[in-house]
Amino acid sequence: MSTPFCRKHLSIEGLLKEAHQVFRRIPDAPGNDIALVDHLMSGLAIFGLKYPSLLQFDQDCREETTRANLKALYGIEQAPSDTRLRERLDELDPSQVRPLYQALFAQLQRGKGLEGFAYLDGHYLLSVDGTGYFSSKQVHCPYCAEKHHRDGTITYYHQMLGAVLVHPDCREVFPLAPEPILKPDGSNKNDCERNAAKRLLSDVRREHPHLKLIVVEDGLASNGPHIRHLQALDLRFILGAKPSDHTFLFEWVAATEQTREVSFSNEDGYRHRFRYLNHAPLNDTHFDLEVNFFEYWEYAPDGGVQHFSWVTDLLIDDTNLMTLMRGARARWKIENETFNTLKNQGYHFEHNFGHGHQHLSTVLMHLMMLAFLIDQIQQRCCRLFQAAVTAAKSKTRFWRKLRNRFDLCLIPNWEVLYQSIIDPPQIALGYNTS
Ligand SMILES: [Zn+2]
Repeated sequence: MSTPFCRKHLSIEGLLKEAHQVFRRIPDAPGNDIALVDHLMSGLAIFGLKYPSLLQFDQDCREETTRANLKALYGIEQAPSDTRLRERLDELDPSQVRPLYQALFAQLQRGKGLEGFAYLDGHYLLSVDGTGYFSSKQVHCPYCAEKHHRDGTITYYHQMLGAVLVHPDCREVFPLAPEPILKPDGSNKNDCERNAAKRLLSDVRREHPHLKLIVVEDGLASNGPHIRHLQALDLRFILGAKPSDHTFLFEWVAATEQTREVSFSNEDGYRHRFRYLNHAPLNDTHFDLEVNFFEYWEYAPDGGVQHFSWVTDLLIDDTNLMTLMRGARARWKIENETFNTLKNQGYHFEHNFGHGHQHLSTVLMHLMMLAFLIDQIQQRCCRLFQAAVTAAKSKTRFWRKLRNRFDLCLIPNWEVLYQSIIDPPQIALGYNTS
C-alpha cells in the first residue's frame, strides 16, 4: 500500500501478501481444482472479516462482487464452498501453518513495529497461559481430550496454550504460535498444560534463538522441572508462587535476616508494600535451585488490599520492585486482551465453525489466531487502520462496515476500503422505474 499512513510491510496488504506467500509454499494435494492457498486465504478472510459462520461466507461468495473483492484484497482466485473448505482444512497438518507466525513476527521486527515494546533491559514479556475453545458431549474427533463423568457420559474438548508478547503500557499483544493441548495421536491419555508448555517454549527458542524474553506465568509454573527447562532454554522468568504451594519458601523468607521490606505511597493514594529475598531455595526437593522471591501488597485508597507473590531469576533490589511487579501483572493481558477479545469481540473463538474428523478444529484455531495477529499489527503500526476504527466508533461496527462493503461495490485495494470508512462516499441509488 503506498499510503503515507503505514509502513509498507506492516499494512494489511503487506501482511496478507506475506500470508499468501507462506501458504503457497505448503505442498498441495494433486488433482484439486481449487488451490490449497485459496482455502487458507479464505480462512483468513472469514476471521479477518469476522464472519459468524462458514456458511455465510459461502453464501456471500455466490455474489460476483464479493468474489471480485476477495480476489483483489485477499488474492483468492476461487473461494471454496463451506463443505470443501472444511474437508480440505481437515486433512491439513496444523503445523504447516506455523511458519506464518514467524514470518509475520519477522515483518513486525523488520518494520520496527516492536520499537518501545521491550520491557526490561531489551527483554520482551512473554505471557503463557492455557484456555479452552471447544467442548461438546456429542461432536468429537480422535484428538479431542476427554473427560469421563460418573454417569458414563464423556465431555470432549480442545484446549490450547497461548504465548503472547505483552507490555504493561500497551494495548496490543502479539501472539506467537499457540500449542494445542489435545490427546496425542494413538494415545489414551490426555495431554496436559505442562507438557504443552515444554513443547511450546522449546519451539519458541528454536524459532527465535536470539530473542530476549522474560516468561511470565501463573503459579502452576513455579515448579522445579519447569524452571530448569526455562534455564536450559536461556529464558528469564517471573512466575506466580502461592503461599499454599510454597510453604517451605515462605517459611525460609520469613526466617531469613536478609529479607527486605520496602513500602511507599503514590500521589493517587495507593500504597505499595514489598518483601523480597534473592537467592532463596525453591523448596526442599529442589534446594539447590535458587530463585529470587518477591511479595507485594497493594493498598487502595478505598481500603481494598491485593496480595501477590512471585519467583524470578532477575536480581531484585529496591529500585526495580515496581518494574518487576508491573511486568508480572502484565501476564493478565493474555486473558484480558487476547482470549477475551477472541471470545467476545467478533472473532467467535468458542463458536464451533466445524470440528472435522482430524485437524479442522485446530487449523481453524490457528487461522483465527493469525487473523488476530494481523489485526494487532495493524492496530499498532497502521495509522489508516487506526483512523478507520476510530471513525467507525467501535471494533464491532468497524468489522461490520468492512464486511458490508464487500457485496456493495468493487473495491480496488485496502487503502480505498479503509478510506471509505473514514470518509464515507455518498452513494445515490437511482433506477429507471418508468
Ligand atoms: Zn476434537
